[in-house]
Amino acid sequence: MTSTFKSDIIRPDEIERYLEDGADFIDEDLIHRTLAENRRPDRARVHDILAKSKNIETLTPAETAALLHVDDLDLLEEMRAAALEVKLKVYDNRIVTFAPLYMSNHCVNNCAYCGFRSENTGMERRKLSMEEVAAETRALTGTHGHKRLIVVYGEHPESDIDYITESIDTVYRQSVETRGGHSCIRRVNVNAAPMPIDHLRRLPEVGIGTFQVFQETYHRETYRRVHGSHHLKSDYRWRLYAMHRAMEAGIDDVGIGALFGLYDWRFEVMGLLHHARELERRFDGIGPHTISFPRLEPAQNAPATTDTRYRVGDADFLKLVTVLRLAVPYTGMICTAREPAAIRDETVHRGVTQMDASTRIGIGAYSADEKDGQHEERQQFMLGDTRSLDELIRDMARQGFITSFCTAGYRIGRTGERIMHLLRSCKEGHFCKLNAVLTFREWLDDFGTGETRRIGEELIRSELGSLAFNGKAQRRQFDDYYRRTSAGERDLYI
Ligand code: SF4
Repeated sequence: MTSTFKSDIIRPDEIERYLEDGADFIDEDLIHRTLAENRRPDRARVHDILAKSKNIETLTPAETAALLHVDDLDLLEEMRAAALEVKLKVYDNRIVTFAPLYMSNHCVNNCAYCGFRSENTGMERRKLSMEEVAAETRALTGTHGHKRLIVVYGEHPESDIDYITESIDTVYRQSVETRGGHSCIRRVNVNAAPMPIDHLRRLPEVGIGTFQVFQETYHRETYRRVHGSHHLKSDYRWRLYAMHRAMEAGIDDVGIGALFGLYDWRFEVMGLLHHARELERRFDGIGPHTISFPRLEPAQNAPATTDTRYRVGDADFLKLVTVLRLAVPYTGMICTAREPAAIRDETVHRGVTQMDASTRIGIGAYSADEKDGQHEERQQFMLGDTRSLDELIRDMARQGFITSFCTAGYRIGRTGERIMHLLRSCKEGHFCKLNAVLTFREWLDDFGTGETRRIGEELIRSELGSLAFNGKAQRRQFDDYYRRTSAGERDLYI
């Protein structure tokens, strides 16, 4: 089955068309050389680089390599402050939240770091039926109040493109009554295996947000070591060009990522930067809408998770988050519940813009109302942060961040070139702040509990007092929407 499935999926011409003189865009020698040549940046150079980043310009590989080598404590603190400044300039004080919804854990691959790997016989395998997809969605939006999901699929004929599109459609069709109005999922982002262009074309038809594929590691030898030589995922370049194909298929909102802990973390940051710059170069300046940087976590029967050679400690992890923020200033940055709460909170002060909450990664775990319990035999890996959405929102509000459930962007065409322009010119935060307040109002009325509600109301009052409007008409529109939202109308956005 695997070999037919593999030949059905991988189309060699959909790799070769992107190569230049037979080469792809990851030149390992060049990355190693750039890292070696920028080992000791002086203070003046670091300041110049930070100024460029604050001007919302993508850094060069040499500049990024220089930041990766900073170890002077004062300079590191300046980098942290600059990263926060960039984030506030581009995204304001907003945090976007989502939940992952695992649809299926069947997988033909055998990645050495993953509990879903085909040789892990201890894993309970199943995929959600459409009734179960509906039940999971209703629990996520009706109990927790989520408006955004990332739907996750193993790579397998059981979860092919037909299953993917049908399950996304099922998610969008659910609506649940709440105490103040109603709630539904308004944006479905997708984390799935690399696909050929004709499969990818079907995703915009069901209205997806971001399409994510992580390269895992940009280092070829490591890639071979952890993915084997005869699995679908063994093809490094098929994965490397997943986003090129997505763009060609009309998906201009893409997310890239690397799994930190498989190889040298500085190399992986450089790989992500080259990937972002390559997308910008090929697709009219449209870089990745998001970058993810998960760290390797324990997983059932996954040998690579016990290999500590390249484990990334907390200090290096926070540094790499800071450098990514500075290197690709316009991109959204996702820190997931793999990380412990304290680390996640710190990353928000270094540029992270999106976090998941109330996270369950066992198949069917939301509707089964499993509390904090984690189940190794059903999960891809173990979680570090099991805070509910209510708790996360409260913690963020205490730190001055407003949780936004805004999903207006992709629904009114603020994607691709348009969103990139708005992000680079720091105008995106303006629209989104108004929508953040409207959607935060909705969520507090529908789902906020005691202390979260109290702190949330304080935050809303302070935001209402400092909103900036693009003219009187927009002010009138916002006031009207705010009044109607408070009265129970839902999903009004600017
Ligand atoms: S990481 Fe993805 S492709 Fe690899 S075994 Fe796990 S689910 Fe399958």
